[in-house]
Amino acid sequence: MTIADVRPTDEVLELRDRYRAFMEEHVYPSEPVLGREDEESDAAIARLRALAKDEGLWAPHLPPEAGGSSGSFLVYAHLNEQIGRSVWAQLVFGCQAPDAGNGEILWHFGTEEQKERWLAPLVAGDVRSFFSMTEPEVPGSDPTTLRTRAVRDGDAWVIDGHKWFSSGAEGAAFGIVMAVTDPGAEPHRRATQILVPVDTPGVEIVRAVPTMGHRGRGWSTHCEVRYTDVRVPVENTLGEVGDGFRIAQKRLGPGRIHHVMRWLGQMQRAFELMCSYALEREAFGGPLADKQTVQNWIADSAAEIQACRLMTLDAAHKIDQGDEARVEVSLIKFFAAGALHDVVDRAVQVHGARGLTDETPLSAMLAMARGARIYDGPDEVHRMVVARRILKSFASGEPWRFE
Ligand SMILES: Cc1cc2nc3c(=O)[nH]c(=O)nc-3n(C[C@H](O)[C@H](O)[C@H](O)COP(=O)(O)OP(=O)(O)OC[C@H]3O[C@@H](n4cnc5c(N)ncnc54)[C@H](O)[C@@H]3O)c2cc1C
Repeated sequence: MTIADVRPTDEVLELRDRYRAFMEEHVYPSEPVLGREDEESDAAIARLRALAKDEGLWAPHLPPEAGGSSGSFLVYAHLNEQIGRSVWAQLVFGCQAPDAGNGEILWHFGTEEQKERWLAPLVAGDVRSFFSMTEPEVPGSDPTTLRTRAVRDGDAWVIDGHKWFSSGAEGAAFGIVMAVTDPGAEPHRRATQILVPVDTPGVEIVRAVPTMGHRGRGWSTHCEVRYTDVRVPVENTLGEVGDGFRIAQKRLGPGRIHHVMRWLGQMQRAFELMCSYALEREAFGGPLADKQTVQNWIADSAAEIQACRLMTLDAAHKIDQGDEARVEVSLIKFFAAGALHDVVDRAVQVHGARGLTDETPLSAMLAMARGARIYDGPDEVHRMVVARRILKSFASGEPWRFE
C-alpha cells in the first residue's frame, strides 16, 4: 500500500463533510435524548433515520444494488471517522452492528428469495436482526465446540440450543443462528447458518443480559436466547449445509473492521475532548496542558490514533482488492481495541471526576471500549491468529513481508 492508495478522493472528502454536517446538526444535539433509551429516543431515532435517507446518507456499507449508498470498505473507513464518533450514529445511518454484517452475508450468500424476504426489509431499516452464535456453556473463542443442534426432519430443520450475547435480539424480526448440522464432519464443516424468524414457536428471548450496569433496550441489548424444537423450512439455510464457518469468516472479517472503523471516530472524539479540557482546566498554577504527564498522554494518543487509522485504511484497501486480509484484520482488531481503551481512559483521567459523569460521552465510551477487547474475538485469539500465520510463513521458508 502507498499513502496515495488510501487517501480520500475529493468526492469522498465531500461526502464525509456531509456526514460531519449531519452529525453536528442532528446527532450530537440528540445524544441526551437517545441515551435515555425510552420511547422518546425511539421516536428521535426514527426521525433521524428518515432525515438520513432523505439526504442520501443511508446504509453506506452496502452497494446501491443491495439498497445501500457505497459498498467500498475504504470509503466506509473514511466515513466512519465521522459516523463512529457517536455510538448512535450507526443506527441513524442504517449501518449498525449486527444488521450491517447480516446484510452483507445475505447479500453475498442469500438466494434471490432470501434477499427479497430478509435482506430488503433489513436494508430498508424496516426490521432488525441478530447473529446467534455464542453459547454460555462453551468458549465463544473456539466455536467448533458449539452445542446448538439443527436436525433435518423432512423439509424442515429442528433447532435446539442455548445462546447468549445475541446482540439486538430484543425486538428483532429474525436471527441468523449458527447450529451444528453434522457433528461427525471435520470441525469447520460441522455447522450451518440458518435464518430463524423470532416469532417461530420455540424461540424464547429469555432476558437481556446486563453488561457493566447497562441492560440496554432493543438494539442495544445482549440477549440470552433458547431454541426448543424450533422448526424452520430448509429453504432458510444460508449458503450450503456445512458452510457455517466459511460464512462466519466472511461475516466476522468485515464485521471486525467495521467495529474498528467506528472506534477511529470514538478515539478522535475522546482525543479532542482531552486536548480541549487540558487547555481549559487549571491546577497548580497553570493549565493541565502544561503538565508533562498530560502532554505524554496527548502525544501517545496521537501516535496510536494515527497508527490505527493507517492500519485500518490498509486493511480496508486490501479487502476492496479482493484479499481476505486475515492478518491485517486481526492485527487491527486487537491493536485498535487496546488503543481505543487507552485513549478514552486517558481522556477520562484528564477530566477527573467529570470524566465519570454523563456530562461528557466519555464514561459511556469507556464502558463500550472494554467490550471491544472481547467481542468478535478476544485480543488473545487475534494475537494467536497473527502469530500463527506469520510463523507458518517463516516455517515454509518465506519470511513475513510487510506490504
Ligand atoms: C458486547 C458484546 C457483544 C457481543 N455480541 C455477540 C453477538 O451479537 N453474537 C454472538 O454470537 N456473540 C456475541 N458476543 C460474544 C463474543 O463474540 C464472545 O464473548 C467472544 O467470542 C469470546 O467468547 P467467550 O465470551 O465465550 O469467552 P471464552 O471463549 O470463554 O474466553 C475467555 C477468555 O479466555 C481467553 N482466551 C481464549 N482463547 C485463548 C487463547 N487461544 N489464548 C489465550 N487466551 C485465550 C481470553 O482472554 C478470553 O477473553 C458479544 C460479546 C460482547 C462482549
